[in-house]
Amino acid sequence: MNTINVDPAEIAKFGRLAGRWWDPDGESRPLHDLNPVRLAYIAERTTLRGARALDVGCGGGILSESLARAGAEVTAIDLSPEVIEVARLHLLESALTVDYRLLGVEALAAESPATFDLVSCMEMLEHVPDPRSVVEACARLLRPGGCLFVSTLNRTPAAFAAAILGAEHVLRLLPRGTHHYAQFIRPSEMAAHLRAAGLELQYLAGIAYNPFTRGARLTERVSVNYIACAVKPA
Ligand code: SAH
Repeated sequence: MNTINVDPAEIAKFGRLAGRWWDPDGESRPLHDLNPVRLAYIAERTTLRGARALDVGCGGGILSESLARAGAEVTAIDLSPEVIEVARLHLLESALTVDYRLLGVEALAAESPATFDLVSCMEMLEHVPDPRSVVEACARLLRPGGCLFVSTLNRTPAAFAAAILGAEHVLRLLPRGTHHYAQFIRPSEMAAHLRAAGLELQYLAGIAYNPFTRGARLTERVSVNYIACAVKPA
């Protein structure tokens, strides 16, 4: 439980992007464009005002700040010192409060189990050596009745075409090597991780993203990017 579940090369890669994290036209552009959809998805399924929220693999804090703006009391963790620094600095601009911590999710679960009303873990599991351990730690951090929200990329030819060929090689939206196909997660595998962690999968939806219009919306097609909500039984 206390072994560190992290790929240092992945952390270094995100550290290099930290300085431009809040530039909506920089490498985090897809995260900025997806954010309203995932925030709405969360807000429709749980009460944010006054909720204790945890954002796992928070990066520069795009979702963490949105959760705080919606009235949640937010803790956010990441293992990249550079992104945590940028996230903290951005609070000076946004005048919001988020408790950013440089900490792994397994360590936080050992420290504060059954603490949070909701946990989000967005676009992070596909960068971790053992995603199941992250899901289990997220589950431990939830209070009974709390919700886990996860999003990631499916392991399909369509996801390879969109997220690797399209985004990294053709459009150059993301640096090459941002994603590794083998680490993409099928919804059936995600469902198995959630089940193993004692969570009940409630909703799964695809997120369609058009990099040209920069529009994002929920869709039934889960072949590329998808988001899910799972509840810890009361
Ligand atoms: N969740 C944010 C950022 C996604 S980018 C958003 O969707 O806006 C992926 C983030 O996961 C990066 O900030 C990276 O540093 C972090 N990350 C990768 N492996 C991690 C690990 N093992 N533990 C914690 N954070 C990790």
